[in-house]
Amino acid sequence: MLEWKIVVLGGGGVGKSAFTIQYIHNRFVDRYDPTIEDLYRKTVELDGKQYMVEILDTAGQETFMSMRDLYLRSGHAFLLVYSITSSTSLQEISTLPSQIRVLKETDKCPIVVVGNKSDLEGERKVPTSQGESWAKSVSCTFFESSAKNRVNVDEVFLKIIKLLDQIHTGD
Ligand code: GDP
Ligand code: MG
Repeated sequence: MLEWKIVVLGGGGVGKSAFTIQYIHNRFVDRYDPTIEDLYRKTVELDGKQYMVEILDTAGQETFMSMRDLYLRSGHAFLLVYSITSSTSLQEISTLPSQIRVLKETDKCPIVVVGNKSDLEGERKVPTSQGESWAKSVSCTFFESSAKNRVNVDEVFLKIIKLLDQIHTGD
């Protein structure tokens, strides 16, 4: 079975854990220890093929830069999460696409940008068009999501698996 490692990155409080846990356990966790870094595994079936997906929900606690480099290197695909309620959170992921591509020594590695908390429209600070055009400028796929309402959670992971599959099969 093909095994894909997906690394979830982004600033604190943007919903990385809520998004990952919603995907894995189909529930919304309102309070999750922000310092916990966890590895989840799930088997996914797509077009009759089975995949083992390993998701690393990072917590930004790594003391050594080399630790961060280690996961960036071991990941096959990356989910960069910001919150639509925080412009700072978009800035926090701004250098990641290039850092990932340098470390991975490839432009082919799938990177998906997710503007989470789309249910908080009244607190929106980042217009959809801003997230979208930035993602496009760095050649990343873009989604807005709500971990709370389970909007675009499966879709994001499915997209990542499809992108990985395309690279693997060379389409
Ligand atoms: P992390 O630090 O990136 O892992 O963020 P968490 O997953 O711990 O989420 C931080 C806070 O934002 C928690 O209180 C979550 O309940 C909340 N949160 C996460 N995702 C959403 C979302 O889609 N909508 C709303 N309204 N709140 C969210
Ligand atoms: Mg977390």
